[in-house]
Amino acid sequence: MPDNVREAFDKPPGRVSLAAMTKLSKRIRGLTAGTGDGWSIHRRAVRLRAQGMPVIDLTVGEPDVRTDPEILSAMDAAARGGHTGYSAIPGTDALRDAIAARVEERTGVRTARGNVLVTPGGQSALFSALMAATDPGAEVLFPDPFYATYPGTIRAASAAPVRVPTRASGGFQPAEAFLRAGLTDRTSAMLVNSPNNPTGAVYSRATFDAIARVARDADLWLISDEVYDTQVWSGDHLSPRALPDMADRTLVVGSMSKSHAMTGSRVGWLIGPETAIDRIADLSTHTTYGIPGFVQDAALHALSLGRAFEERIAAPFRRRRDACLARLAGQQVVGVIPSGGAMYVMLDIRATGLPGLDFATRLLDHHHVAVMPGESFGDAAAGHVRVALTRPDHELLAAIDTIVALAGKMIP
Ligand code: PMP
Repeated sequence: MPDNVREAFDKPPGRVSLAAMTKLSKRIRGLTAGTGDGWSIHRRAVRLRAQGMPVIDLTVGEPDVRTDPEILSAMDAAARGGHTGYSAIPGTDALRDAIAARVEERTGVRTARGNVLVTPGGQSALFSALMAATDPGAEVLFPDPFYATYPGTIRAASAAPVRVPTRASGGFQPAEAFLRAGLTDRTSAMLVNSPNNPTGAVYSRATFDAIARVARDADLWLISDEVYDTQVWSGDHLSPRALPDMADRTLVVGSMSKSHAMTGSRVGWLIGPETAIDRIADLSTHTTYGIPGFVQDAALHALSLGRAFEERIAAPFRRRRDACLARLAGQQVVGVIPSGGAMYVMLDIRATGLPGLDFATRLLDHHHVAVMPGESFGDAAAGHVRVALTRPDHELLAAIDTIVALAGKMIP
């Protein structure tokens, strides 16, 4: 078995039996298409840290603050108060109402309890949306670079991923002509993500108008991943569900992972037409059986803290993004694609002649700084590395200096 296939199972070599492999479904075996899942540098960084090496890990998009004690107190009170049994599968009425109110306030689109399905994280909402929007064999268009789980999640729904290239020179905004070029008679959905992971692009009104036009003309579902909606540094967050005639064909993925520093609580949601949400809840019954009641109560409390709390959680990422851009200004070694949002900065290291993975490997092995190779996020990000702004400012800036110094040494 090739190493990359084994790696997809995330187990040490030798513990995967060949017989078990061949018995597994094509769906599971094909999930990462035999190319690995792009997280090898991250896993190695975690291993090295566990062995005591002082690695600055800038691979994962996880806030470096823990969940606020006030939210944990609400969780504790809910659990001790008895909310530890099976809970409402589409979400508690109170939480669905609070999410609906937040969505309506932020987007202006009328949103009620029936439009909301609570899921274990945005990732589960994404899977649910894809299960709902595709039949087996259907194609799903999405811009490249993309969040690393997209192709595998599409394949998990027995659909086929189709990448639409975007360019750094165009700010990584998908162009209408490229979207249309990706359409076939099997296309049933488009998946977009703004603010974008990994590029930090915030899609413009013109980009969303084009996306909506293509969705309407080709009669597609639009799945809009908006998990970074509180992290917008320039421009405005726009939800395509708010565009004319789009509410009935748009499924919005939301999450409290980034907005409330609650990654481990696994609270996300899917917003869509009531009739669709009602049926998609059937999938939750047959897969996750909902999320714990005490976690839902904690999420409700977290939402009650309002925008000021969300801004407090987002503030370090805005500050670090500005500090990184200032630090990188004036040097010519690595290219910088200024991010409009999300907790990442993409650096163009093509002048070194190295693929992102080779550069990231050297950076980790020799300098103990871990970043994600651009190739983990698609062909359009080749020769780039993604730096997550998830370490304290001084560590982050030291890592930026290290990256520039290494790139400088590598330039022929
Ligand atoms: N979408 C994007 C673009 C993400 O970056 C992430 C997490 N990194 C998710 C979805 C899923 O997040 P979660 O399941 O924690 O809500």
